[in-house]
Amino acid sequence: MSRIIFWLALVFLVIFAIRSKIREAQKRHQQQFREPRQPAAGQAAAGARAVAEAETMLQCAHCGIFYPASETVQARGRDYCSAAHATLPGA
Ligand SMILES: [Zn+2]
Repeated sequence: MSRIIFWLALVFLVIFAIRSKIREAQKRHQQQFREPRQPAAGQAAAGARAVAEAETMLQCAHCGIFYPASETVQARGRDYCSAAHATLPGA
């Protein structure tokens, strides 16, 4: 009889240990899923900021590169990337 009680107690202890390990793993799993969300939200905010700061790009009439519209040099009704390209003859 004492053997049966011993084995029952052992089985309950093993079940209890397994359940506590599973709960621990679930908590860790939930934390792993919660923690990356906060930096991801920060990245989304940074992305939104980058979009807000994005500037219109123009293409140089001489060399064809794209540059920010704030740096444009206009000459003869066309947009150039630099004064050098704007003053080139035939550009
Ligand atoms: Zn150019």
